[in-house]
This record gives sequence, C-alpha cells and structure tokens, in this order.
Amino acid sequence: MRLSKTFIPTLKEIPSDAVIPSHQLMLRAGLMRQLTAGVYAYLPLGYKAMLKAIQILREEMDAIGGQEFHLPALNPESLWIKTKRRHIPNLILSIKERDLVLAPTHEEVVGWIAAMHIQSYKDLPQIWYQIQTKFRNEPRPRSGVLRGRQFIMKDSYSLDASWEGLDERYEAHAEAYRRIFRRSGLDFFVVGASSGAMGGSGSQEFMVDSESGEDTVARCKQCSYAANLEVATSGLAGIGRVPENNPVKEFPTPNVRTIDELATFLKTTDERLAKSVVYRHADTPLLILLVGNDQLNESKLSAALGEGAVRPIDAGELKSLTGADGGSIGPIGLKGFRIIADKRLENANGLISGANRNDHHVRNIDLQRDVHLDGYHDLRTVLPGEPCPTCGAPLIVANAIEIGHIFKLGTKYSEALNATFLDESGQSQPIVMGSYGIGVERIIACHIEQSHDEHGIIWNKVLAPFAVHIVAASMNNKETVLVANQTYRALSDAGIEVLFDDRASVTAGFKFKDADLLGMPLQVIVGERGLKEKKIEIKRRATGERTMVPADGVVNAVRSMLSE
Ligand code: ATP
Ligand code: MG
Repeated sequence: MRLSKTFIPTLKEIPSDAVIPSHQLMLRAGLMRQLTAGVYAYLPLGYKAMLKAIQILREEMDAIGGQEFHLPALNPESLWIKTKRRHIPNLILSIKERDLVLAPTHEEVVGWIAAMHIQSYKDLPQIWYQIQTKFRNEPRPRSGVLRGRQFIMKDSYSLDASWEGLDERYEAHAEAYRRIFRRSGLDFFVVGASSGAMGGSGSQEFMVDSESGEDTVARCKQCSYAANLEVATSGLAGIGRVPENNPVKEFPTPNVRTIDELATFLKTTDERLAKSVVYRHADTPLLILLVGNDQLNESKLSAALGEGAVRPIDAGELKSLTGADGGSIGPIGLKGFRIIADKRLENANGLISGANRNDHHVRNIDLQRDVHLDGYHDLRTVLPGEPCPTCGAPLIVANAIEIGHIFKLGTKYSEALNATFLDESGQSQPIVMGSYGIGVERIIACHIEQSHDEHGIIWNKVLAPFAVHIVAASMNNKETVLVANQTYRALSDAGIEVLFDDRASVTAGFKFKDADLLGMPLQVIVGERGLKEKKIEIKRRATGERTMVPADGVVNAVRSMLSE
C-alpha cells in the first residue's frame, strides 16, 4: 500500500489521557481512536493487525474441530433472566425500550440452540465458536483497548455427554490456547483462576506479565505454581492452639480501633488478635474472622458463600445491629450474625477480639468452645514472600493482563435452559458444557506492551500489519523514485505485504521517525547514497541492525530475513 493514499493518522505527541505504552502507541501509530469511554474505532492499520490475530484464532479453533458460528449480540432479556445473570453487577448493557440486552458472552444463546437441536448422546461432543463483538458494562474502562465496553472476543463452547468428555475438550482448548499465544509471539503463563460470574468447577487464565495489568497473580519462584490472587493460596500455617485455656474475659481498650492499635496497646504481635470484618450476604449479616492483619479476599468470600449478593455492611447498619462501631466487633455475644472464619484460625484459642461494645475487647476466646461457627474457609489474600503451597519457596506477587480464560462450566447453563440429551440408556441428562474466551484486542495490546521502545511499536512478523515498510528518502530524486517503485512492485509481486512511504510532502527524517513509530519488522530504505553503488538498505526494526543489499536482490534478502 502507498502511504500517500493510506489513512494512517499518526500523532507526534503522546495523548495525555493514555498512560500505558500500548494505549499511547495504538493512538500515536494511528491504529485506533476512542469514540467514548471504552469504545474504540479501529482504523485500517489497527484492524489489519487484528485480522492477523483473528486468522490464527480461526486456524487453531478449526484444528481442534471447532465449528464457526456468528451469534447475535442482541439477546432477549428473558434468556438472561432464566440463567439468573441479568442482574450481575457491571456485566450487562441493555436496550430498555425493547427488553433486549447486549450479550457480554454467549452461554445463553449456545444453550438455547443446544436445547432445540441436541437430542442424543450421538449428537455430542460439539465445539462451537465465534469471533464476534461483545459488550460489557465495565465500570472503569481504561488502559485503552485492554478494557473496552465493546470488544471482540473469540469465544467457544463445548458440549459433552460426560464430565470426562468435558475434560478432553478443556484440555484440547488449553493446548490450542498455548499454540495461539505462542504463534502470536506472546510471553505468557497459565494460572489457576476463579470462575467468577460464570460459575462451574474449574478454570485457568492465560496471563501476560505486565505492570499495566489489572489482574494480580501469585507465582512460585521455584516450581510451576501460579494462581490469580482471587484464588491463590499459600503454605502459611494456621495459628493453632495455645496450652492455657482460661474463660473469656472482657477488658477495656480505650480508643483502640485497629489491629495495629490493639497490638501496640497489648504490646504483642498480631497473631492471636482475631480481626472481625462485617458483610451482608443475601441480607444475612455476616461476621468474618481473620488472623491479625490478614486481608479479606472478596473473590474467595463470594466463592465460599455461593449464590447471592455480598457487600460490606455500612457503619450505620452495623451500629444499629450491634450497638458498636467497626473496630469493636467480635464473635462473643454477637446476635443475629452468621459467623465464618479463615482456615488459619481453625480451632484456635487464646484469641482476642472486639466485645461488641466500643472501647472494649475480649480475651481467651476459644473458637471450639465459645463460638458457633458456620465453617472455616480459605478467605485471606496471599502476600508476597509467603511459602508456595506446593513447594514452600517464596511466592512473587505481580500484575498481569488476562488474555484468555477457559472454564469447565458443567451443567449450570444446560440445567437453567433445559439443554438435555438422551444418554445410552435413554435417560435425559443435562449437557456438560465448557466455555473458552480470548480477547482479540488484548492479543494486540499485549504484544505492543511486550514489544516496543521509545520510538514506537516493534511488530513481530506474525501480527505486523505489513512485513516491510519501504522508505523512499526523497521523492525529488528520479532514481530513488524509480528504484523505490520497482522495489515496491517486486516485493508485492512476491506476495510480501508492503507499506510504501511514497510521500513527497515530508522530509526523510520525518519518514524514518514514522517508520519506527509504525514498527513494521523490516524497513527498506531507498536513498541516493546507496543507489550510487546500486544498493538499498534494510533495517531490522527490532535490533536496529542495518544491511546493504543489491537493489535487484531485495526480494531474496527480505524473504530470507523474514524466514529467520
Ligand atoms: P477481566 O477479569 O479482565 O475483566 P473477564 O474475566 O471478565 O476479564 P472473560 O469473561 O473470561 O473475561 O472473557 C474472556 C476474555 O475476553 C478475557 O480473557 C479477555 O481476553 C477478554 N476480555 C474480557 N473483558 C474484556 C474487556 N472489557 N475488554 C477487552 N477484552 C476483554
Ligand atoms: Mg476471566
């Protein structure tokens, strides 16, 4: 393509609202523009890169037997009421006057088709996929296309007659995902993950290490343990029991509100201090006990509690329920609350906690003896340096970007939508489902996050919109124009995708800057100096390395550099 006729609106300045490198560079290199918060228009160069990623997705999904669909983005609201997902916070955008919702994912529509047409175990298994626009009511769209309210997803769904079948389809997807991200040139890793709003029994996320990421993961320095912080555990031991076991006793703690203040007041470590956190779960007040300064993990809490909204109790509500303020709540004498505790507190005694009376605490609490507990769960957030749950080496906690997510859904949606089949003995059974997603924009943005420098993008040859960027240094020099045109034709005829900077209106320096900003893998520079010896220069964008090659040998030289 001739740059003089191509729409690539580059920007010299870094747009002030773009903070992370991929967002800045996608704007500066003219790949996209933001229409409104979380909604982007892809311009020709950006869309070309996305199509490269989409091609890889298609090939790898077809290779595991996926069949491509195109499902509607507009869905009747009633379908989402059936699966109880209509009112999940921050998920669904809707068109109220027609009772329609914009689908954030497609389990519902897949279930609807399966309910109509899958009849017997002989119709299974199936892998259905699509590459289609998704809509989500993201509360804080930021980081450019990494978190859009509208984005393109490759989503697939597996339908099986058994859990063993689901395991097979899940493994096939995990393998396909590895191939997709390897082929895309991404440096990625896989973590155990929470199933969140999807529900289901198992899930893994494909992650890219990045400070720009909104996910946090714990990874072992020594073994392969890696998990999203939403589910990560550590080998940190429980606090166990102490030998003396005296009766509970209230004592005054004037102006003590926090665990740190209590530790200072008692001149002790925080270990035997039980922190109380108060929530509501589906309207029931809930007291959660944790060790000292351990942080409550809301994802783990939601998973432990199951269905129903979970939210912190506000101060006024708490005061009217207990008569006390936040820093003085505890399990002794607390009425009308369900009480659960973190696993580290399992059967512990000798604990100190709030007395449900301001400025007072209670000591010698024995959870076995004194508290009616509704169970112990892993509820705390893992901290860096804690021992790996698998091998004991220290854990690292770092930010990451989620590029793909695979779920074993099980029968949650097939049951809700009545998607059943007749098994070999003629019994009706719910279809066992899996669901698998990859964000197309995230592939592109993650590649740019991992591959750029201060001058611009450094595309790998797989995702690059063009393999070669020809720079004709001067369009006023006849020979340069002639050879640049010949080179453009020869490379294009050889099937190589070329962007040809044939602009007469800008200086050579300006063109070189743009070539670095746009970041195609090879730059072919046609200039007077080289042409004196009938040579042109090839610059590798990634390394800056330059090679002079004979002007008539450019196709072979480019081919061999691209095949490395
Ligand atoms: P996140 O935790 O980042 O919000 P999610 O868990 O909601 O993502 P999934 O429902 O698992 O995402 O969607 C599958 C894939 O779709 C994700 O792995 C990601 O690549 C992509 N994706 C999800 N939400 C967005 C978004 N708002 N913008 C761009 N891509 C997204
Ligand atoms: Mg996810």
